Amino acid sequence: MRKIASRADLARWVELATDPERTKGTVNFIAQDRDGNICTGVSTSGWAWKYPGRLGDSPIIGAGNYADNRYGAAACTGMGEMAIRASTAHSLVFYLKMGLSLAEASERAMTDLRDLGGRFISVMNLVAIDKDGNHAGFSSEDGRSYIYQTPDMPDCEELPRTVVPIPPRWG
Ligand code: ASP
Repeated sequence: MRKIASRADLARWVELATDPERTKGTVNFIAQDRDGNICTGVSTSGWAWKYPGRLGDSPIIGAGNYADNRYGAAACTGMGEMAIRASTAHSLVFYLKMGLSLAEASERAMTDLRDLGGRFISVMNLVAIDKDGNHAGFSSEDGRSYIYQTPDMPDCEELPRTVVPIPPRWG
């Protein structure tokens, strides 16, 4: 049986897992196989201080993630209420269906979020691919990146996300 190396290591992981100020880490994952089949996976929400019973966008197909082999796929992290209201992952794939490029479709989906009325406008991040395997990452904040790997790459690479600013609005 494998032993935990040291109690100090374990204590650090327990602290990270239980400190609500630091519990975050929603992960988007998009994969495409050699036949063009696409799937998305989104970890359940890592949002800290969630309202009891709040679901978030992560498990909602069309909001936090969406895949259609014919056009592409998208997945979100960030403020789920926004992705739910705008059906962001589905919107992006729909824009691909309408013939927009991946960059245009992603930008349009982000712009839809920026244009939402009402309260609680905050950070949003998107990753997406089109049916040809082109990929993109977008964020409303500077300094965000995403990683990708194709079969010919021995290791993954990190790329910056394109920024589409969404001014935060809480009230
Ligand atoms: N999108 C998640 C949610 O709203 C939070 C996150 O991405 O960290 O539940």
